[in-house]
Amino acid sequence: MKLVTFVTDGREAVGRLDDDETTVRDLTPVVGASSLLAVIEDWERLAPRLAASTDLPVVDDPRLRAPFPAPRRDLFAVGKNYREHVAEFGRSGYDTPQRSEDLPDKPIVFTKATTSVTGPFDDIEAHAGLTAELDYEAELAVIIGRGGRGIASADAMDHVWGYTIVDDVTARDVQRDHKQWLLGKSLDTHAPMGPWAVSKDEIDDLGALEVSSTVNGEPRQKAPVADLIFDVPELIRVISAGMTLLPGDVIATGTPAGVGIGFDPPRFLRPGDVVECAITGLGAIRNTVR
Ligand code: MG
Repeated sequence: MKLVTFVTDGREAVGRLDDDETTVRDLTPVVGASSLLAVIEDWERLAPRLAASTDLPVVDDPRLRAPFPAPRRDLFAVGKNYREHVAEFGRSGYDTPQRSEDLPDKPIVFTKATTSVTGPFDDIEAHAGLTAELDYEAELAVIIGRGGRGIASADAMDHVWGYTIVDDVTARDVQRDHKQWLLGKSLDTHAPMGPWAVSKDEIDDLGALEVSSTVNGEPRQKAPVADLIFDVPELIRVISAGMTLLPGDVIATGTPAGVGIGFDPPRFLRPGDVVECAITGLGAIRNTVR
């Protein structure tokens, strides 16, 4: 099922996308809730009822928001999780304090503030004066369905509800200058998310999905999820080892090679640039830098 969070007439609600990937149907009559989190927390009860609901009202002119417009806690994100991106990041000189092109032996996990989340087609604020080195990172994001702690890799997929796309927008100068990544990764509007939340049953082969991005239509990133250094079960095992994962948690799994600092000289985003991030079966998000 492809679910969306939408606004129409000033009202926010959860919808389901038809197979045409355009028509949105309002799920409120069935789920009685206005947030995707509430739907996911009650998924085992609601999924069969949703599957049986074929005559839900079509929404006129819905504006899609991020699936979780205000997540209850920061997004988890993973650094340096595609081999060629590790190399380009090391070469760039932005990897501090220890510049390295070596593959990490354990996942590098950081967070993006809840307030960085923005909609799939909303603008990315340039934050002029604070950063002059804005970069894009197309990423597969995992949505946790069932929480837990101490989750084994073998059980990890049982805790996944589904997937969406996150552009892990990064202020490279802020990321570099502050050593720790939180500030450089968390500026307002720097986590465009969506356009849909896709339940895991829709994805037959996660590794075969292709993560890609373009800037002003020019191809920049392209790699299959199978190229992840630490795969989804391993990330869930590591993050949950001593910290309880919650339903609705989002884990951005890392970005492939082809980001702006991968070029020499770097190609940072400028106002007016249009960034599109796409993943097979999960749609595409498109955001303009303003
Ligand atoms: Mg990233």
